[in-house]
Amino acid sequence: VRLANAGGRAALLLDDEIADIATVSDGKFGPDLMQIYDAWPAFADWAAGAHAGTGPLVHGDLGCPVPAPRQIFAIGINYREHAEETTSAVSEVPTTFTKFASCLAGPYDNIDTTPGTTDWEVELVAVIGLPARNVHESEAWDVVAGLTIGQDISDRALQLAAGGQYSLGKSRPGYGPLGPYVVSLDEISNPDDLAIGCAIDGETMQEARTSQLIVTVPQLIAELSGVLPLSPGDIIFTGTPGGVGIARTPQRFLKPGQVLESWIEDIGTLRNPCI
Ligand code: ZN
Repeated sequence: VRLANAGGRAALLLDDEIADIATVSDGKFGPDLMQIYDAWPAFADWAAGAHAGTGPLVHGDLGCPVPAPRQIFAIGINYREHAEETTSAVSEVPTTFTKFASCLAGPYDNIDTTPGTTDWEVELVAVIGLPARNVHESEAWDVVAGLTIGQDISDRALQLAAGGQYSLGKSRPGYGPLGPYVVSLDEISNPDDLAIGCAIDGETMQEARTSQLIVTVPQLIAELSGVLPLSPGDIIFTGTPGGVGIARTPQRFLKPGQVLESWIEDIGTLRNPCI
């Protein structure tokens, strides 16, 4: 299943076509995206048998595939290279913050940059598909609806102000582009080991594999669900690899006119123009 937000309506991606889910399911699922995650197991069963498109895929129509999650988790310092480049200690417990929901954006939306401070962080994002509390690591993939790509865009000046305020500094409007689709695990070759990267105007800035995560996706779900309940549609930004702009010599930041492309194997590519 590849689930997209096509013009505000839940849609399945079928090759070069989309299927409007509310239309094809006679109103059983959709058009609201978040209702789909609430009904994920039944939806996934139904979607496996859906093969008829209702229109062409128009990339420019795609919006955020998880537009209104109840909770957004983001993990800091979860790749060794990123820990080293930022001279951060790797803690026993994953460093967790939130991105406020108003920052979520579509896969091709603009990033409104602030000169000299807006930085990139490509991340694997897990979308929860079942209520989850005290989930064991060995069963944690079972509560995941699918995976998508996120950019944890960061205003470094605001992030590092007042002794560190990650949540606010990473939540300006448009600072959470997500997509292009949520891809269910059966369409992903190995969810524990995917190529991930991003580039500015074609120049690669980050390139890694998700097998390099210090705390894996199942471990994060075990850890988080041990503290509080996770709900369908909750999302987890799992941390960024090395190669961010603030850690470069000289430092680099996003500028108007540049295009930031972010990719993960088996999922797709985000393309966000900087304004
Ligand atoms: Zn991040």
